[in-house]
Amino acid sequence: MNGLFPRPRKSLGQNFLTDHNIIRKILAVADLQPGDNILEIGPGRGAMTELLAEKVGNLLAVEFDRDLSAILREKYAGSVNVKIYEQDILKVDFKSLLNNQIYKVVANLPYNISTPVLFRFLEERKHFSRFVVMLQKEVGERLAAEPDCSEYGVLTVLFRQWFDVRHEFIVSPGCFFPSPKVDSVVISMTPLISSRVDVGNQALFERLVKSAFSMRRKTLWNCLKSSSIADLTMLKEALDSCSIDGKRRGETLDIYEFAMLSRALA
Ligand code: SAM
Repeated sequence: MNGLFPRPRKSLGQNFLTDHNIIRKILAVADLQPGDNILEIGPGRGAMTELLAEKVGNLLAVEFDRDLSAILREKYAGSVNVKIYEQDILKVDFKSLLNNQIYKVVANLPYNISTPVLFRFLEERKHFSRFVVMLQKEVGERLAAEPDCSEYGVLTVLFRQWFDVRHEFIVSPGCFFPSPKVDSVVISMTPLISSRVDVGNQALFERLVKSAFSMRRKTLWNCLKSSSIADLTMLKEALDSCSIDGKRRGETLDIYEFAMLSRALA
């Protein structure tokens, strides 16, 4: 125990923010308004929760750790604007939790599950107006990557389709207890009103993008051929009609080329 709190649990990605300047910077990026509905994921020991609670009219916080959520529930038992839920963010039913209201997410995410949490944001984006999240730097770089580099992948393309993503600032390990091994980054993401590109058929587009990155050292042609996304004649015709050379690697295609190829295949 550290005073009130149990020892940090590595299995739950518990690296607590101890630098209040960083918390204030995160809240500045979130551009909080008194009428905002805020969802905090993983409030932990509540350092960010406390500042959020002072600024917004409605704050929901979802914490998986039983001990920490019990401590926070007790602390906010009499609060009119803060509610603490002991739940797994990967399983939460957002529709009922958020009661059909639009929320902003503000979170220092548990790094061990940051990628599945991001994919949930992608699926559930209609419930949210903005996401301001801290992640390990490497995952943040994947979100904001440009084609033809090792960070560019499925996550990048699918997020670019549905979000404006901004790399805000880097946070060093010394700002946390215990210190993580890597740098962190704060990212903000605003869902677009509609897809950035016309992909024809969404399921086909997602299959195409996943197939193109399935074997990063192989050519686009080889990746798509083994994915059986289309028969070979059709595949060749689609690539030709888009003037995309099958000898390129998938990671060199930008989102507009993926969308064009998806439409051609559809
Ligand atoms: N927000 C706090 C801070 O900045 O000091 C804690 C951040 S810590 C990186 C991540 C928090 O997410 C921990 O409190 C952890 O217990 C919680 N957590 C881990 N897995 C979770 C899950 N599946 N659902 C909800 N919370 C989770």
